[in-house]
Amino acid sequence: MERTLAIIKPDAVSKGVAGEILSQYEKAGFKILAMKMLHLSKKQAGGFYAVHQGRPFYESLCAFMSSGPCIALVLEAGDAIQKNRKLMGATDPAKAEPGTLRKKYATSIERNAVHGSDAPETARFEIGYFFNGLEPVDNQG
Ligand code: ATP
Ligand code: MG
Repeated sequence: MERTLAIIKPDAVSKGVAGEILSQYEKAGFKILAMKMLHLSKKQAGGFYAVHQGRPFYESLCAFMSSGPCIALVLEAGDAIQKNRKLMGATDPAKAEPGTLRKKYATSIERNAVHGSDAPETARFEIGYFFNGLEPVDNQG
């Protein structure tokens, strides 16, 4: 089993589709090991997306991610990282496959509804950014 960090981004929370998205993680076979709603500061959003510092969209991305509450989740499944990337679809909703979360819920390449870790090292960093070691429950069988 593998873990990945997912975020239901502020655009999806404010649209009122967080519950639908949670349900789709479950239907896809992910176990939700941890979950919290929080309103990031711009600095906290910047720390999360530090790999993109210097990119032209960085400032706007940090403003968007701190514009309202988001929901951070630890999801577990076999091949969870790739499985979630597939469920999310392409970064740009115009290029996302039908049925994917971004196709259904994103409004633009920036306001694209969900985040998912892209590799084991980034998943470790991202899970640790939002959750302490005791928070993901490990006794769900
Ligand atoms: P995420 O990391 O949020 O799961 P991703 O891995 O598909 O998305 P990244 O390249 O890591 O895409 O970009 C991080 C986020 O930055 C994107 O999800 C999107 O919100 C924003 N972003 C990426 N590229 C652009 C762009 N060209 N213009 C505006 N925003 C962008
Ligand atoms: Mg990314």
